[in-house]
Amino acid sequence: MNAYCVKEKKSREIASPKEVTFRNGRHAVRGKCSSCGTTLFRITGK
Ligand SMILES: [Zn+2]
Repeated sequence: MNAYCVKEKKSREIASPKEVTFRNGRHAVRGKCSSCGTTLFRITGK
């Protein structure tokens, strides 16, 4: 799964992704950029 890395301004693969749920009920996947280690989020839209 890929997400946009704001640090590198490129789409990067998410390392060790975990599903999280926000307080508003939205689901997302959180992990780390496989390239630079920045925390990445991807809204999964459920
Ligand atoms: Zn990165």
